[in-house]
Amino acid sequence: MAEVKESLPSGPQAGVEYPLTLHYCGNCSMPLEYCEFYPQYEKCKEWLEQHLPEEFDKMTKLNEGSGDGDDDKKRQKRGGKGMMRAKKKEEVEKKVCLSRAPRGKRKSVTVITGLSTFGIDLKMASKYFANKFSCGASVTGNGDEIVVQGDVKDDLFDILPEKWEEIDEDLIDDLGDMKR
Ligand SMILES: [Zn+2]
Repeated sequence: MAEVKESLPSGPQAGVEYPLTLHYCGNCSMPLEYCEFYPQYEKCKEWLEQHLPEEFDKMTKLNEGSGDGDDDKKRQKRGGKGMMRAKKKEEVEKKVCLSRAPRGKRKSVTVITGLSTFGIDLKMASKYFANKFSCGASVTGNGDEIVVQGDVKDDLFDILPEKWEEIDEDLIDDLGDMKR
């Protein structure tokens, strides 16, 4: 899979030393990265917000969601404001919904939604289904929907937890038959 290069942030990054662009805090007079350890960090942030809004932005973003170290690298790569929203994913309820929809007179399709709440790559998943069921599968609609040609709903209750162990069978909702 290709790396997303255009989201590389410009300017200094945390964890990289840029002596030329080192900023000092007007409140505690320490380099900005030390403010965090200064007792008046809140005041430091106020100063920063007023005088170096860009740095303030960066700093508050970096602190956001600290704790899952796994994300550190990604965050540095992403940088852009828009990408931060992706972090909020964890607040979304994780659930996969399966439904069957008629297609033509005798055929039906299976609609799978919610895989993205598990952070699953939809394109990859649809390829997997296409292989598994030897049938067509495609990502459609709002981007969190996979339509598999054929009625494979029952199989999916076994296959989903098998393929992605984070999908517990209890997290799969059967929406029954849908009219499209
Ligand atoms: Zn400071």
